[in-house]
Amino acid sequence: MDSKIQLETAIAARRDDLIALTQDLIRIPTLNPPGQNYRQICDYLKQRLEAAGFTVDLIRATGALADSDTYPRWNMVARYEGGAAGDTVHFNSHHDVVEVGHGWTKPPFGGVLEDGRIYGRGACDMKGGLAASIIAAEAFIATYPRFAGAIEISATADEESGGFGGVAYLAEQGRFDPARVQHVIIPEPLQKDRICLGHRGVWWAQVETKGRIAHGSMPFLGDSAISHMGAVLAEIETHLLPLLAGKTTAMPVVPPQARQSTLNINSIHGGEAEQAEDYTGLPAPCVADRCRIVIDRRFLIEEDIAAVKAELTDMLEQIKASRPRFDYEISDLFEVQPSMTDESSPLVQSVGQAIERVLAQKAEYVVSPGTYDQKHIDRIGRLKNCIAYGPGILELAHQPDEWIGVDDMADSALVMALTLAELLPTA
Ligand SMILES: [Zn+2]
Repeated sequence: MDSKIQLETAIAARRDDLIALTQDLIRIPTLNPPGQNYRQICDYLKQRLEAAGFTVDLIRATGALADSDTYPRWNMVARYEGGAAGDTVHFNSHHDVVEVGHGWTKPPFGGVLEDGRIYGRGACDMKGGLAASIIAAEAFIATYPRFAGAIEISATADEESGGFGGVAYLAEQGRFDPARVQHVIIPEPLQKDRICLGHRGVWWAQVETKGRIAHGSMPFLGDSAISHMGAVLAEIETHLLPLLAGKTTAMPVVPPQARQSTLNINSIHGGEAEQAEDYTGLPAPCVADRCRIVIDRRFLIEEDIAAVKAELTDMLEQIKASRPRFDYEISDLFEVQPSMTDESSPLVQSVGQAIERVLAQKAEYVVSPGTYDQKHIDRIGRLKNCIAYGPGILELAHQPDEWIGVDDMADSALVMALTLAELLPTA
């Protein structure tokens, strides 16, 4: 029988299970920060996957950023050997979710099913994708008990806060060594007909301007760091942003407005620190001697990070040359190189063909404007064959009344199962 019909039947038979699994995962509130219930969700998955014949390791990212005895960073890695030598296909999902926020009409951890949608924080980002990958693997194994290679499923911590206690830690332990794992699918909510090949680069930095403190009634005796920062902001607006808008990319970034270099000013702080909310006094009159901004510069695969940094330094040096007493300092906070998997790789080809078979339309190739755990798999793990593919609508992530469609999960589970059939030859 045709593999598509067989796997479609196997996944259809698991529809109730897919729903129940997704609901169970949503009902374990794995809020990050601070990193709640990580052990509980890993224990739940361990029990589930051991029952399906997987060998399961629970790994605490001891000593990683944010790991503590109160909030230990637990990760789960499960492996199923097909019985003959071959490639390993790894599905990696993060198990953490962001804060609930306001504006919900459904219980955020209720997993309510209504009109074919399951609601809850993490429904689309990305417990629905995790559930779809588990059902895909279980349906594939039940249909083809003997195959060449292995399937791995991981649920990892802290993607929402950088992934250091999750995928980065596992990559450092060699879990994404190309000798061990050959293909990685991250079921982030990119939509069931799209393959995400990678992401733009990131550079976060703090820029501080310096002044001299004095009494606010005699500002001429001091030097305002806020005024100096005003000059920096003006220069960013009038010169830097237009320059960045002119830098476009061949990367198929979605949304298309992100097909260029961008810069956001994430925060600004100048002068006296803000007081706690319960402080009832007045602020003190001082000339600000320090002002800081944090910038978030997203760069393209065509750009070099050294040039990206030099561009900002050059701008600040120009201000310094023309503005009396202007002084500044830049500190690096965080950086990630752009990443893009080759469209001709067997992984991308297999998923693309599977999408065509299931949805009767061509796959769309996209690149994410922001980063996700692919960065660690690429940089630390040195593994290039990595894509994001999963059900759900990206725009719903982190929103109130986040939901995942059951049909979308089932369709993408079939795409994943067909991909397994393509990459892991069956007996
Ligand atoms: Zn996510």
